[in-house]
Amino acid sequence: ERQPEQHAFEADVSRLLHMMVHSVYSDKDVFLRELISNAADACEKLRYDSISQPGLSTDGIPPGILVTLNEEARTLVVEDNGIGMTRNEMIDALGTIARSGTKAFMERLDAAKAGEKAELIGQFGVGFYSSFMVADKVDVISRRAGQEEAWKWSSDGKGSYDIVAIDSVEAPTRGTRVVLHLMEDAKRYTDKWTVEKIIRDQSGHVPVPIRLVDKEAAEPAQISDGAALWTKQKSEISKRDYDDFYRGISGQYDEPLTNVHFRAEGRHEYTTLAFIPGSQPFDLFDPDRKGRMKLYVKRVFITDDAELLPRYLRFVRGIVDTSDLPLNISREMIQESPVLTAIRKGITSRILNALEKMADSEPETFAKFWGLFGAIVKEGIYEDFERRPQLLKLARFHTTAVEGATRSLADYVAGMKEGQSSIYYISGSNLEQLNASPQLEGFRAKGIEVMLLTDSVDSFWPTNVPDFEGKSFKSVTQGLADLNEIAGEAGSDEEKQEASSEVVAFIDFARGALGQEVADVRVSGRLTESAVCLVASEHGPDRQLEKILQGAGR
Ligand code: ADP
Ligand code: MG
Repeated sequence: ERQPEQHAFEADVSRLLHMMVHSVYSDKDVFLRELISNAADACEKLRYDSISQPGLSTDGIPPGILVTLNEEARTLVVEDNGIGMTRNEMIDALGTIARSGTKAFMERLDAAKAGEKAELIGQFGVGFYSSFMVADKVDVISRRAGQEEAWKWSSDGKGSYDIVAIDSVEAPTRGTRVVLHLMEDAKRYTDKWTVEKIIRDQSGHVPVPIRLVDKEAAEPAQISDGAALWTKQKSEISKRDYDDFYRGISGQYDEPLTNVHFRAEGRHEYTTLAFIPGSQPFDLFDPDRKGRMKLYVKRVFITDDAELLPRYLRFVRGIVDTSDLPLNISREMIQESPVLTAIRKGITSRILNALEKMADSEPETFAKFWGLFGAIVKEGIYEDFERRPQLLKLARFHTTAVEGATRSLADYVAGMKEGQSSIYYISGSNLEQLNASPQLEGFRAKGIEVMLLTDSVDSFWPTNVPDFEGKSFKSVTQGLADLNEIAGEAGSDEEKQEASSEVVAFIDFARGALGQEVADVRVSGRLTESAVCLVASEHGPDRQLEKILQGAGR
């Protein structure tokens, strides 16, 4: 008899498990989606690895997932014939938290209030560990494709797990069997109709066929055929199908704002099905700025690491399937491939066009989109020279002209005053603070609109973008504003006026008192209520950028 080895969970896993078990989870059904998604990933991984190592799956058994229910034993089993796991892979994958997304999720969860927690969990796929919401013991039996030995991982989710080598006959020929010993109050997951409905709802578009059986001798019923949704005609696909597919591939539970589904023919042949999410993905502000679009070649999943979109569209979720790349293309070769460059260009255009259309025909949806992802898209204004005009057109800003709504640059230009040749902006960390800034007084008095920029990217692009439709961008804090030349009701030509002798005396005093702290002290026409304000010099960095540079230890 072999002795199981006991291993302790990584501290983060214990925390996550504790949370799983104790949270008032609104929707426990998601554990099944997570297990099926892992099973499908394993089948796709085998499909991919078999291209370079045909020996891995010579048996000719097609990929598949089998769900088996047993009411008496109160078990639910999800079995796949995919890539499987070695002993060490089990230790790595099922005892630690490898995904940066899960870490980010836990940080957010720590910060969230009690009421928000359930909702947060609901929005976010929590992977394998979600099994412990419904099971008090989980066994994972696995045999890595191409290997003899098989291993069993078991845990009650309370701090440790066991691993033991098992006899060959006890394991699948290849792949993984996950056995959930269900808690008393989770026994509904042994009911065939209940489980069938959950699978259809959550996992109907998984690209691997799924079968279900609840009686030992019975023939399993096919629940989903594993046909790839993106290969179907648009007219055959309902909104529901699209939304379910989105949830399946993104691991997000929201309703996407829109999708872009098209087939390109001609020089390059590929199909794209991409979604604009209805909520912010958890990795959106990660420093690596990675996208998650999945690349398929002739329906074989290749990688989700191919940078299929520019980084400022990294929130887009979806797939690209092409027949123009060889199946055995290495992941390293992909980045260099000219085919991929062309595809990248093609889908970027389609997505930006779809957003333009949304801005025109569904302004409310677009406003929601901009609220969620505007700060990311603006990175493109700074770094995508070629598409800058299109991105500037899409961009929306808070301005002094309207409160609580945003304006486009076209709106701004249309409202410019006679004699005004620049687009004025002020940047800072929040709207309220900006609105109260004395820098704006002179502009307000003359009815000149000022854009209020609050995203950190806003400190970079305006100084790099020469103009929008011939109008330059100018920070209100930068040098003496051109207020005198612009027509307006209030605000006089104070600067040209003779300053009274008291003012001259005061300026001299201020210059002396401040010394090297400031470059100069001047009389200005830009204030109407406040006595003084700080301005940056005409050509140096603007105030907000100065603050950032100071913060960076400059
Ligand atoms: P994710 O799927 O996002 O990586 P999970 O918590 O769902 O996170 O799974 C963790 C890891 O466990 C997977 O990345 C994979 O390496 C491994 N794993 C889980 N289920 C299976 C399975 N059925 N076959 C092979 N590997 C699996
Ligand atoms: Mg998973």
